Amino acid sequence: MANEIPTRPEETLDGTVVYNVPFPENLADLARMAPLIIKHPYHIDYIHSYGQDSPFFAGLANRRLLGTRCKACGSTFATPRLSCMQCGADCEWIELPKEGRVHCFTVCHFGSEEFLPECPFVLALIEFEGVNTLFLTRLMGVDPTRPSLEWIGMRVKAKFRRLSRFKPTDVWFVPADR
Ligand SMILES: [Zn+2]
Repeated sequence: MANEIPTRPEETLDGTVVYNVPFPENLADLARMAPLIIKHPYHIDYIHSYGQDSPFFAGLANRRLLGTRCKACGSTFATPRLSCMQCGADCEWIELPKEGRVHCFTVCHFGSEEFLPECPFVLALIEFEGVNTLFLTRLMGVDPTRPSLEWIGMRVKAKFRRLSRFKPTDVWFVPADR
């Protein structure tokens, strides 16, 4: 893409501010009106409880990746759940290995607001030895513009944000040889 010559300027959200729009004499003409598009910044502070998932985020803040294991049937979950998906019994916390393998991946060229500046980026499902479910996370240290099937099965290791934000993005994976 680097060699591509642009044919139009970069689109921005800036432009003329409009405080009024033309309005037809005949209301029937409103049926042909183009949609109004407005710029509307918003900010909301949430007070949000992680509830029984809290230990997972406390783990990330301490560079530990936690999953759970069913006390009854022994099923293990890389995305922790406190009730077993197999039998419904209670689960207990376990520490997951910091290394796993790429099960599959996708390259995201669009995302929610927080991730737009980082597009394209790679999302991967990671499999861990002896764990029954996969872990969805970002795969970094690979070139998203050159995705390769050789990434499937690649050994990867967890990296943790030094200053935790208590978000799932506090952890990501990179090739194990980095
Ligand atoms: Zn179970």
